[in-house]
Amino acid sequence: MTTTRFAPSPTGYIHIGNLRTALMNWMIARKAGGTFILRLDDTDPERSKQEYADAIQEDLEWLGLTWDRIERQSARLDRYHAAADTLRDKGRFYEGFETPVELDLKRKKQLNMGKPPVYDRAALALSEDEKARLRAERDPHWRFLLDQERITWTDGILGDISIDAASVSDPVLIRGDGQVLYTLASVVDDTEMGVTHVVRGSDHVTNTATQIQIMAALGHGHPEFAHHSLLTGPQGEALSKRLGTLSLRDLRAGGVEPMALLSLMARLGSSQPVELRSSLDELVEGFDISHFGVAPTKFDAEDLKPLTARAVAAMPFARVKDEIAGLGVPDDKAAQFWEVVKDNVATRAGMADWWAMMRDGATPDVAEEDREFVAQALEMLPPPPYGPETWANWTGAVKEATGRKGKGLFMPLRKAVTGQARGPEMADLMPLLEKAPKL
Ligand code: GLU
Repeated sequence: MTTTRFAPSPTGYIHIGNLRTALMNWMIARKAGGTFILRLDDTDPERSKQEYADAIQEDLEWLGLTWDRIERQSARLDRYHAAADTLRDKGRFYEGFETPVELDLKRKKQLNMGKPPVYDRAALALSEDEKARLRAERDPHWRFLLDQERITWTDGILGDISIDAASVSDPVLIRGDGQVLYTLASVVDDTEMGVTHVVRGSDHVTNTATQIQIMAALGHGHPEFAHHSLLTGPQGEALSKRLGTLSLRDLRAGGVEPMALLSLMARLGSSQPVELRSSLDELVEGFDISHFGVAPTKFDAEDLKPLTARAVAAMPFARVKDEIAGLGVPDDKAAQFWEVVKDNVATRAGMADWWAMMRDGATPDVAEEDREFVAQALEMLPPPPYGPETWANWTGAVKEATGRKGKGLFMPLRKAVTGQARGPEMADLMPLLEKAPKL
């Protein structure tokens, strides 16, 4: 059974980069009729916060990315310690005593000598006496002893990968203070939860190599891996620093529609075109991980605007009925109101401005040379209620009286009535006005 997981750390809000990972894993599971697990990687007790765990769930629910199971690593610490015991028994787990400062110094020395900063395994050379003495001074951290051979796998996106384990430091799996680190927890969970496919960012490729060895040391095979390219800004600049402003909640607050966001992120960086889809099912149907490329993927938040406008325009009245009622639009006008404004808003929230205009009247936009003409025209318009014929009758009468026609007739009147040069068909809009337009 296909099983995937999205494994954010609840140490902040999830952003557009996380969404790419979540969505790919979600689509694989849904396409296969499998299981999608939301796994909260919360082994860091200081940085993990309940408020973020809640927010992650809220953000995924907003998008409709539902999960079949939720797991928390903090509830599974005994499993990780059991795995650590197994590794210890197999001679694949060893204590290190270097402080972070000492390790940093070693790395710097290696780099200065032009060597890769790989841990030198000095701890393996310690005698039992030395270890006993050091243990009295500080708590050891625990490393996995890599087999120094090539680690290979066929990646769902990157193709055949081969990494020389000798070029990688033995990963620390448990810190001196006892905190279980991501690599161990992730390996144990992926194995015990039956995860069959892991999609994550290409910044995890080296982790994957070590995880494959740890899984093997624990007596297991490994899931299929796919590493997607990382997102950059529109100019190819690193996005990592700006990701904070691209949180899903900020995008939502800015009026971005779920289907707009999903339609973009489900295809961005793939060989398939980005088009607004109408449902998650439609997205899942056309999804294929092998269509995604290796090159960094440019993300431009501007692309969400036309997609959002289209998603709004495509919304049936029933979806926005309550919101429209909330604005105070009378029930008998509500459906017509939506027909008139839906193609003329950037976001759903934009309809409030249209209603305010219809209810209170616009601030007219009148060019100096049109002032007299508009004043004369407005005098010819009776007070509301208006009907579907009002615009034609009124402009017909104004044309007769002033001799103006075409754009010179219609545009100043549109701008006087709505305060804008663009907008819905005036014939459709007039019946929604609650007040006679004034200069
Ligand atoms: N918590 C890890 C992260 O957010 C999960 C990586 C993974 O998918 O294994 O980077």
